[in-house]
Amino acid sequence: MKFEDLKLHPAILKALKDENYSEPTSIQAQAIPLVLERKDVLGSAQTGTGKTAAFAIPIIQHLINTTRHEKGKRQIKSLVVTPTRELAIQIGESFDAYGKYSNLQNTVIFGGVPQNPQVRQLQKGVDILVATPGRLLDLISQKHISLRDVKYFVLDEADRMLDMGFIHDINKLLKLLPKQRQSLFFSATMPTKILKLSQQILVNPKKVAV
Ligand code: AMP
Repeated sequence: MKFEDLKLHPAILKALKDENYSEPTSIQAQAIPLVLERKDVLGSAQTGTGKTAAFAIPIIQHLINTTRHEKGKRQIKSLVVTPTRELAIQIGESFDAYGKYSNLQNTVIFGGVPQNPQVRQLQKGVDILVATPGRLLDLISQKHISLRDVKYFVLDEADRMLDMGFIHDINKLLKLLPKQRQSLFFSATMPTKILKLSQQILVNPKKVAV
C-alpha cells in the first residue's frame, strides 16, 4: 500500500514526501481510512509504530476540508491529550511536519514552565492543540482555552496517563468536551481499566492493533 492509495490531500502527500516516508506503517494503513470515514478508533499501538501520523494525518485532512471557509480567529477544532511534555512536543512537531503545506496552526502546552508564552500562542488562534492534562485544565479554568469547537479528540498513551495518576483530570476533561465529536484512543496495553475508560470516550469504535 502507498500513501497515494489513502486518498490524501496533495498538501499532505507533498509533506510526506519531504519526510521521505515511502509507505504507511501497519497502524497507519489500518487507522487512516477509518479516521477519514469519521469512525471512532481504539488503537493498540506503542510509540515507534508510527501511531502519531496515524492520527495526525487524517486530522489534518479533516481540517484542510473544514477550515477553508472559516472567517475570524481560529478556534481549537482538534485536541490531542498526551501524558508527558516530551510526547506533547513530538506530537506538535509531527503536526508541523505533516501539515507544513496545509495552512493550519498548532500549539503545544504542558506544565512545569511559565504559562504566559503558551497563553500568547493560544491568543493568536489555533486549529490544533496538543496538551498535557494539568496545564490544559489550568488554562481552561482561567478561560484561556475553550473546547466548544473541538470536533476531533485524541487521547494518546492512555495506559501511561492512568499510571501517572491523570484519571481525575481525564474525567474532568471529558465533561468539558462537546458530545458531537470524533474520538481516537491509543494505548500500548489494554487492561480492563483502560477498556472501561475507552468506553466512556468512544462511540462504536473500530479496533486497530499492531
Ligand atoms: P511514532 O510511533 O508516532 O512515535 O513514530 C515513530 C517514528 O517513525 C517517528 O520518528 C516517525 O517520524 C517515523 N515514521 C512514522 N511514520 C512513518 C512512515 N510511514 N515511514 C517512515 N517513518 C515513519
